[in-house]
Amino acid sequence: MLNKLVTLFSLQIIDDELDELEELRGDLPLRVNGLNAKIKDIQDQIDEKEKTKAESLIQRKTNESEIERLDENLKKFKAQLYKVRNNKEYDALTKEIDHSESEIERLKTENDEMEINSEILKNEIEELTPGVEQLNSDLDENQVELKKIIKANEIEETRLKEKRAKIVAEIKKPDLNVYTRIRKALKGKAIVTIQRSACSGCHNIVPSQRQIELRQNRRLFTCESCGRILVSAEIAEEAAKSLS
Ligand SMILES: [Zn+2]
Repeated sequence: MLNKLVTLFSLQIIDDELDELEELRGDLPLRVNGLNAKIKDIQDQIDEKEKTKAESLIQRKTNESEIERLDENLKKFKAQLYKVRNNKEYDALTKEIDHSESEIERLKTENDEMEINSEILKNEIEELTPGVEQLNSDLDENQVELKKIIKANEIEETRLKEKRAKIVAEIKKPDLNVYTRIRKALKGKAIVTIQRSACSGCHNIVPSQRQIELRQNRRLFTCESCGRILVSAEIAEEAAKSLS
């Protein structure tokens, strides 16, 4: 049990040091994430508008060929008008002519509207683009800064992570799960010592009977107030020694 507690406490020491390295990064990782999200959002808007514009161009070209085809027909129909032999043929032809003319009109109007919309989209894209450029340059700056900090601590971080992996390998899965769960819930400290009869995690007094049991290092106790794993000062000393 003593060994198990020492190992758990060693893990806490390593994690504290890793946390400190993480803190050196300040709000840079958050800022980088925020900027990335903003850039993606605006870029998505631009892409969507570009897509609509491109689709509109294709549709306009299709419409133009259709207009050309209808125009050809129209010419044919009009030429045929001179050759009609009866009213029935004449009516049928004028009907075709009217239909072609109104269809051409409809397609031209549709193209005009799409052209106006494309112009609006083009302006909107032009308005959005400088924003993305600015955000990208902010992102670059923050990333450079963050990389500098990470680089400066790279060796130390690797050393700590390797050490951590070795310690973790010595801990039984259920104990590691308890440790991880508490650490996550309480943001940092999962295992703490008793200091001046109190839990050093939440500063609540530990009942004296519990303190006596704790000093025997025979069981895994958790603080009744904050839920952290509580160990004696002796365990902390052993852990520090094992790491040095
Ligand atoms: Zn506590």
